[in-house]
Amino acid sequence: MNKFSRWLPITLGLLALIVLPQFVHNAYYLHLVETILIYSILLFGLDIVVGYTGLVSLGHSALFGVGSYTVGVLFFKLGLPFYITLPASIVVTAGFGALLALPALRVTGPYLAMVTLAFGTILQILINEMTFLTEGPLGIKIGKPVLFDMPMSKVAFFYFVVACVVLSLWVMQRIIKSHYGRAFEALRDSPIACDCMGVSVYRYKVIAFILSAAFAGLSGGLYAYSEQYIAPNAYNFELTILFLLAIIMGGRKSRSGAFLGALIVVMLPSLLADIELFRWIAYSILVIVLLTAIISLVNKQKTWKQLLIPIAAAIGVAVFAKTLDNITDWRLTIFGVMTLFVVYYLQEGIVGYATKLLPRRKHNEQFEQLDVELIKGGKNASGPLLKADQILMQFGGLKALNRVDLLVQQGHIHGLIGPNGSGKSTMMNVITGIYQPTEGAVHFYRQGQALQMNGLTPSAIALNGIARTFQNVQLFGEMTTLENILVGLHHTFKSNLLDVVLLSPRYRREERYARARAAAILTLVGLQTQIAEEARNLPYGKQRLLEIGRALGLDAPLLLLDEPAAGLTAPDIKELVMIIRKIRDCGITLLLIEHHMDVVMSICDRVTVLDFGQKIAEGTGNEVRTDPKVISAYLGGDVESTATSH
Ligand code: ADP
Ligand code: MG
Repeated sequence: MNKFSRWLPITLGLLALIVLPQFVHNAYYLHLVETILIYSILLFGLDIVVGYTGLVSLGHSALFGVGSYTVGVLFFKLGLPFYITLPASIVVTAGFGALLALPALRVTGPYLAMVTLAFGTILQILINEMTFLTEGPLGIKIGKPVLFDMPMSKVAFFYFVVACVVLSLWVMQRIIKSHYGRAFEALRDSPIACDCMGVSVYRYKVIAFILSAAFAGLSGGLYAYSEQYIAPNAYNFELTILFLLAIIMGGRKSRSGAFLGALIVVMLPSLLADIELFRWIAYSILVIVLLTAIISLVNKQKTWKQLLIPIAAAIGVAVFAKTLDNITDWRLTIFGVMTLFVVYYLQEGIVGYATKLLPRRKHNEQFEQLDVELIKGGKNASGPLLKADQILMQFGGLKALNRVDLLVQQGHIHGLIGPNGSGKSTMMNVITGIYQPTEGAVHFYRQGQALQMNGLTPSAIALNGIARTFQNVQLFGEMTTLENILVGLHHTFKSNLLDVVLLSPRYRREERYARARAAAILTLVGLQTQIAEEARNLPYGKQRLLEIGRALGLDAPLLLLDEPAAGLTAPDIKELVMIIRKIRDCGITLLLIEHHMDVVMSICDRVTVLDFGQKIAEGTGNEVRTDPKVISAYLGGDVESTATSH
């Protein structure tokens, strides 16, 4: 049933496209649909960047232009056929995507927007100026693609575009469902946790940009053949804004959203050229807004106050449309107003909004019961596992850690305690590479060899065998619990993009195995019934357990837990302690920051006490509990009541 309802719209849509040329003989309308399809390919790609990795690109109209001009130049200068020019436009544009991504993705937010914008502007100018290659403002005429010595007919090319869309849809869907897609979403929801799961944020941002550019290249190439004429001014800034508007309005992370967005992008300019049509739409919007307002008032979902602005705006637009007599001057203003409307009232896009109105669709997480090794721990080895020497961590004048030594023995649960602000979390951040210590070194022992950790990136440290959780929970909120753990298991995938797209046996085996293991880990942390729940919907205590489960996916011999019991209820804490013991019994060593002294006393083999960035005591739980320095600094003083509840 579920499969059926998923395939039905795709099959129907495809059928409609196949029969369309039989019914629509008007070349103009066929071309319009063709353009929508071509734009949707670009929007699939742009969605990877905007929807999945959560970055902004203002350079996509330029990438689209690179695709078009690759076809244009190869055709015009060398007379190459479409089965060479189109793959070339994909490859060349992907190359430009890489060129943009490598420097641009070192920066984020507004800087990234500026860099991509500059890139787009430069490319447009280059296309304009490099007359020897691009014919400059004159543009290039492109002949119809030739197949078997015959130029393709309009209908044949339309079918060719449909085939390209189906292919892109397949590639996109496969990538998004794979460990690549999970990495993209993970880096959007929490870059820091993503790195600490061994998934390099930078690397996957670059991959996302390159993939996105490849889609833009195919789209641009097809566009060149479809228009049969290209000129630099088509690939301007307005187009970039339209693309972004299309993604946001259609709905991010959705292929139907991309189609809808493409429809809007293509129809909007012609819609804004016809004043009668515009009036009609303005009046319909008013009716829809009023109806929705009445429904939500009756259902008591919204108050009068919340509805005032949308109703006033809809009335305003309707009045504006009535009084308007020339629409072309207002085009940009109307774009702007639409963007504002979408940003404020339709953040999930039209598709996102519509799916919210429908009964909530359950995520469908499938896995098989396989014979999996749940946790790959060490083999009861002894000796040191982690050694931090003379760690000095300075923030300006503050010495958050002042020459602290720490030695964690294999198989131990090592407690790290101290008052708030004493440097405990800083220690974890130094060990996991989030902070570079001002002085000192961290060594990690694997198979008797000491590996220096400081200087490595967080993802490299994670892959070397140090997993962690965070004091302020860092989950991948929009992903399901199972997917969160699958990100932890990312390192078990050896498959590349080709494996993913072709569904190779290797990839299918890895995915099956990882899913089975993820389900087993979820059971270990007691979340088996919430397997398809989005992480952000879990209660706080469960979120902490999920974070531990995700860290277990890394198969790391050392697990660092930063205040796992903070904010938990008493029964939750009991469950947590049980789980920590289970993990230790699997041969995993733990470094545990905790304020609940009863927890620390009952499970820690050794305890280190920090105060103002200094190590003031170390020993067994009982030794430190009776240490006068510890009592005056931490246990006796004004600390949280839980700390003394033992
Ligand atoms: P704890 O985890 O023991 O409560 P932290 O390690 O979080 O303490 O913090 C130790 C000290 O270092 C605090 O005074 C804190 O303000 C400071 N600190 C931590 N991280 C930073 C940072 N990134 N920049 C400046 N100061 C920091
Ligand atoms: Mg802390």
